[in-house]
Amino acid sequence: MQSAAMRWGHLPLAGESGAMTEVAVDADRCTGHGRCYTLAPDVFDADEVGHCVVLVAEVSGDLETQAVTAERNCPEGAISLSR
Ligand code: SF4
Repeated sequence: MQSAAMRWGHLPLAGESGAMTEVAVDADRCTGHGRCYTLAPDVFDADEVGHCVVLVAEVSGDLETQAVTAERNCPEGAISLSR
């Protein structure tokens, strides 16, 4: 049986496969360097003392790209992504 995408002639675009990546921050490890919300401002923000707040808990496409960049640049290893 063909998928809906094939029946309607629509090929999935990057990040359109339906698979989402979950974003989490370990508050015990976060020390507020701010790299995450600087590099990925659409996914993370700062709280009143500069610690990370997750704005979007499930990402794909461009937001996932931002989240991966933040994960790789967090000096404390506080960001985790689950696929
Ligand atoms: S880069 Fe890491 S340590 Fe810094 S605010 Fe973001 S999550 Fe916290």
